[in-house]
Amino acid sequence: MALSLYIFHLFYKFKVLVLVTLCLMVLWATVNYYVDSRQETPKAKIMVEDFRKVTSLKDSQKEKKMESVTEVPTVKSLQDECPALSPYLIGASKLTFKASLTLEEVQKENPQVAKGRYHPPECAAQHHVAIIIPHRNREKHLLYLLEHLHPFLQRQQLDYGIYVIHQAGSTKFNRAKLLNVGYLEALKEANWDCFIFHDVDLVPENDFNIYTCGPGPKHFVVGRNNTGYRLRYTGYFGGVTALTREQFAKVNGFSNNYWGWGGEDDDLRIRVHLQKMGVMRPPAEVARYTMIFHKRDHGNEENEERMKLLSQVSKTWKTDGLNSCSYKLLSVEHNPLYINITVDFSMQPKVS
Ligand code: BGC
Repeated sequence: MALSLYIFHLFYKFKVLVLVTLCLMVLWATVNYYVDSRQETPKAKIMVEDFRKVTSLKDSQKEKKMESVTEVPTVKSLQDECPALSPYLIGASKLTFKASLTLEEVQKENPQVAKGRYHPPECAAQHHVAIIIPHRNREKHLLYLLEHLHPFLQRQQLDYGIYVIHQAGSTKFNRAKLLNVGYLEALKEANWDCFIFHDVDLVPENDFNIYTCGPGPKHFVVGRNNTGYRLRYTGYFGGVTALTREQFAKVNGFSNNYWGWGGEDDDLRIRVHLQKMGVMRPPAEVARYTMIFHKRDHGNEENEERMKLLSQVSKTWKTDGLNSCSYKLLSVEHNPLYINITVDFSMQPKVS
């Protein structure tokens, strides 16, 4: 009996020991788990972060790959449109005119211009602009203008072409008729939506003077160095103007009847007003030009008849203009930096 009591007691003690051991083990495991998990949380967070980084890097690589895939076909319509304001604009430039400048140097500076044309490779241009420059015997001025105009237009992310309309022969210079020819000939090779009629001796100083057309005809030469950067006179519409294809067609272009210097720009302003269009100008701070000095050219003497012609515009504009612009086309050459169109007006009857 005593033995069985002793065994029972021993068994009881053993059970208590086992229970205590079990409790201790559970406690140890709980403490361990708690401590571990506190160390694991930041580790886990880092792992999650790392994972995220990897996946986002993969995503961006994927996106980059996608971009480069869309870049490859260089199909213009697949490109994003260029921004409303180009990121390449630099503002006012200090213009220099190096006496020894050559056409080859200007060509080297503009490797992306081909046959007188350029379009931004990085985006689809929003504007398709033909620059029309009337010209005779001003090679050096043309060179300086090309030197500054090409980078200027490229910084503006324009799709553009430069057309130099050269008047051959010895007839008096006819700036307006040359500009009409430029419009008609340029449209034969591309569907330009904007035309900038540009004197050869005026160089823009600030690329925030954006060479695009507006809802109304635009006049750019608000100020130039030789007039103290002030508008020459109220209503001045000379030097550099921009009209859309439609605006220019609506006024029937320039008159063809202004031979020699003066009047044709005022005539165009009257045509614009007759069509109830208002002239727009960019802010004076940016619409600044340097005029390259020159003497009055032989063959471009002052037009004594201009006042008489100006008094008749309301009667003549419908029949004198784009619809009556006849000329002898001598050549169209695609030079690297410009399209050179040579015309002869000497066979034309002089109507005045
Ligand atoms: C004359 C215009 C001429 C213009 C040239 C003015 O002073 O009166 O006839 O067309 O200058 O931009």
